[in-house]
Amino acid sequence: MIEATLNTAQPQVDGKARLELCRHHFPLLRQRVNGKPLVYLDNAATSQKPQVVIDTIMRYYMEENSNIHRGVHYLSEKATEAYEGVRATVRQFLNAGDTREIIFVRGTTEAINLVAHSYGRVHVGKDDEVLISAMEHHSNIVPWQIVCEERGARLRVIPMNDAGELLVEEYEKLLTPRTKIVGLAHVSNALGTVNPVKTMVAMAHARGIPVLLDGAQAVPHMRVDVRDLDCDFYAFSGHKVFGPTGIGVLYGRESLLNAMPPYQSGGDMIKWVTFEKTVYNDLPYKFEAGTPSIAGGVGLGAAIEYLTKLDLDAIGLYEHDLLQYATARLSAVPRVRIVGTAREKAAVLSFTVEGIHPHDIGTILDLEGVAIRTGHHCAQPVMQRFGIPATARASFAFYNTKEDVDVLVKSVEKVIEVLG
Ligand code: PMP
Repeated sequence: MIEATLNTAQPQVDGKARLELCRHHFPLLRQRVNGKPLVYLDNAATSQKPQVVIDTIMRYYMEENSNIHRGVHYLSEKATEAYEGVRATVRQFLNAGDTREIIFVRGTTEAINLVAHSYGRVHVGKDDEVLISAMEHHSNIVPWQIVCEERGARLRVIPMNDAGELLVEEYEKLLTPRTKIVGLAHVSNALGTVNPVKTMVAMAHARGIPVLLDGAQAVPHMRVDVRDLDCDFYAFSGHKVFGPTGIGVLYGRESLLNAMPPYQSGGDMIKWVTFEKTVYNDLPYKFEAGTPSIAGGVGLGAAIEYLTKLDLDAIGLYEHDLLQYATARLSAVPRVRIVGTAREKAAVLSFTVEGIHPHDIGTILDLEGVAIRTGHHCAQPVMQRFGIPATARASFAFYNTKEDVDVLVKSVEKVIEVLG
């Protein structure tokens, strides 16, 4: 059905209209909330799922469910084939060199923990430094803090300006012989800033320092090519990219992964076990202990195929236009302040309204059927940097429209009217 919509839509309509047609692929978006048509603007927290993803997961459980890798029976082979097929899909999606470099994990959080606890524990020593940025999600701060505390190392932070852009000159100064790894958000979830990660990777590599990129907020909005970025690790979550929860990906450079110790251990990550000694499995299985989210993996595969057919370049252009429209309209509302005004931004509009707490904005918007997020967005240091406790955040996906933005703006005006 989706195939048919995409193909028949293509010749007659331009990319923008074609993307708007795809809204109908998302059954959840059809519902009403508090008597109003749902306007879903919380995509940075999690995105909705197209019918094809829901159907694929249902079909997997109805026709293929079995444990993978171990069985010789028909169902186990089918499930293994499906799951390993997704690894090939992800490899192509990220343009990684080899499926051995694609590790399935629970999500971005687990991917970063894997690198921090496996790579970090080996390579970060006393008086060494781990370098992250001022706009990281807690999941790219806390694991490094733990490793630094354990190893007697220091966490250093790349500062940003008032627009929410990293200060690349300061970054350069912070790259020293003590720096053992750099961890950077590709796109900030709290500010929407798209960081110049390709340049920043090259700067670190010039000094022999590896770089981990947190791609949780990038992958749903732009084409990502890990070989072009030349990063050493790249993490993303399935649920933010129109796939299910409980599955995500860590891309890692093969030479680094090979030299890293396992992060979790148990079944599947071994070649053989005696009480005296265990020989670990080859990549990628060395990092995949236990039964994974097989249905999650299969659903992620369907989501990536869906997104690839839509064309991420077209999505990027469409969302850029939508964000510009939303920024202009919301900025024109008296007392609204946009937090995060970087030149390069993607899909995120954080804002405050003078004199009104963001939670009150969120609650009143909910009554209008508008779902946004309010709070610190798991990026408390960003709030501290801007001297605010929280923001209201509207975040977009390709199925959002200018009409959604109009409802958002009207509802914010109503908040101001009601709360004064
Ligand atoms: N990094 C960023 C930039 C994020 O936006 C998020 C999710 N909000 C995460 C990491 C963590 O992702 P997950 O909860 O799926 O592990």
